[in-house]
Amino acid sequence: MQRLAAIKGMNDILPPDSARWEWLESVVRSLMQRYAYRAIRTPIVEPTALFVRGLGQVTDIVEKEMYSFEDRLNGEQLTLRPEATAGVVRAVVEHSLLHDGGKRLYYMGPMFRHERPQRGRYRQFHQIGAEALGFPGAEMDAEIILLAHALWAELGLQGVRLELNSLGQPDERKAHRAALIAHFEQHRGRLDEDAQRRLYTNPLRILDTKNPDMQAVVESAPQLMDYLGDASRQHLQTVQSILDAAGVAWRINPRLVRGMDYYNLTVFEFVTDQLGAQGTICGGGRYDYLIEEMGGKPAPAVGWALGVERVLELLREQQRETPAAPLDAYAVVADAAFLPAVMALLQRLRLHGVAVQMHSGAAQAQGLGSIKAQFKKADASGARFALVFGADEMQAGAVAVKPLREAGEQKQLSLTDVAALASSLQSAR
Ligand code: ATP
Ligand code: MG
Repeated sequence: MQRLAAIKGMNDILPPDSARWEWLESVVRSLMQRYAYRAIRTPIVEPTALFVRGLGQVTDIVEKEMYSFEDRLNGEQLTLRPEATAGVVRAVVEHSLLHDGGKRLYYMGPMFRHERPQRGRYRQFHQIGAEALGFPGAEMDAEIILLAHALWAELGLQGVRLELNSLGQPDERKAHRAALIAHFEQHRGRLDEDAQRRLYTNPLRILDTKNPDMQAVVESAPQLMDYLGDASRQHLQTVQSILDAAGVAWRINPRLVRGMDYYNLTVFEFVTDQLGAQGTICGGGRYDYLIEEMGGKPAPAVGWALGVERVLELLREQQRETPAAPLDAYAVVADAAFLPAVMALLQRLRLHGVAVQMHSGAAQAQGLGSIKAQFKKADASGARFALVFGADEMQAGAVAVKPLREAGEQKQLSLTDVAALASSLQSAR
C-alpha cells in the first residue's frame, strides 16, 4: 500500500511544538481582551466569488494561489480561504454587526495558498488577525498598530521594525497610477514579464517586485506620497504622532503597497531581517471601501494579519524559550488492583486543578511494571512530584508524595482532604 503522507506545504503541528502554539494563542487572547477586541470565527470554505470580489481579480492570490474547487453535489464554486478579512467583512455585512456602532474583532486560524513551499511559506499556514470596523479615525490605525507592537513585547520578540506608507484615496491613486504607467511605458524594455503583464492591470504592484534587475526603474518611479492631498497627509501624520507619543519607531517605505487591492490610506508591515526572504511577519492597513464593495452600507475599517509560523520561527531564531505546560504530578501505582481507587482520586485531583499523568503499563496480565520502571517514566514526564500508591499507603488511606525536581523529603499525605492535597501539589505555581 502506498504510504499516506500530508500534502506538500501543509504541516502537522505536533507536541512538544504544539505547546508553543498554544502559548502564543493564549498570549494573543489575553492581549486582545485588554484592547477590547472580541473573537470572530468564520468558515474556512467560502464561495469563490467572495475572494474574487474582495481581494481583486488581478492580485497574486486570486490569479494563482487559491485552492478552488467545485462542490460535487451542487456545482457551487468554493475556495479554501486564503485570508480572513473577506470572510469577516461578509459576516459583518450578513449579520449587520455595525448597526449599533463600530466593532473590534480578532480571529486565528488556518489559511490556504498554493505557493511554492519554503521556509516561512507554506500552503496551509496560520494567521492571527485584528480588524476594527466602522471607525474612520486615524487613531484606530494607530490603536491597531499599537496592538501588534504590544504583542511583540509580550512575546519577547526583538528587532521587529515597523514600515508605514499611505496609499491615499482612490482619486489620488488614479492620478499616481497614470503617472506610473507613463513612467513604466518609457522604460518598457527594462520590465520583466510579470511587470509587463501588470502594467495596465495593477501597475502599483510592480513597485513590490523582488527582481534585482528592476530596482533602478522602480526606484525612479513616481511616488504615491507625492500625489496625496491634505486630508490623506493629515491622516498619516496623526498616526505618526500617536506612534511617536507611544515610543513606537516607524519608517516610511514609499514602496510598501501590500498584495490586496482593497487598501487605502495607511498601510503597514512589521518586518525582521532574521527570517531571510520571508521577513514580513505582519501586514495590514485601512480598507474603507471593502464593506461597501461587499454589499454592506459604506463603513470604514482597518486591520492586520500576522503569520503564526513566521512569528514562531522568529521566536526560535531568537532562542526565546516559551513556557511549556507544567505537569504537577505523575502517579506511580504498585498494584493494578489499586487502579479503581487511584483513578477515582486522580479524577478528583484534576477537578481541583492538578495536572497529573497516570502511569499506564503493559497489557492486563503483566500488570503496571516495576516501581523502578514507573519512576523512570515519572522522571521523564517532567512532573514536579511522584504520587506513589504503594500497599502501605493504600492501607493507610494515604499517598506518598516524592519531589522529583527539587530537594525535599518524601511525605505521606492523607487522601481524606483532597482539596488540601491538591493545593500542596500546586503550591509552586
Ligand atoms: P508575502 O509577501 O510574504 O507573500 P503577503 O503579502 O502575501 O506576504 P498577507 O496576505 O499580507 O501576506 O498575509 C499576512 C501575513 O501572513 C504575512 O505577513 C505573512 O507573515 C503571513 N503569510 C502570508 N502568506 C504566507 C504563507 N504562504 N506561509 C506562511 N505565512 C504566510
Ligand atoms: Mg504572498
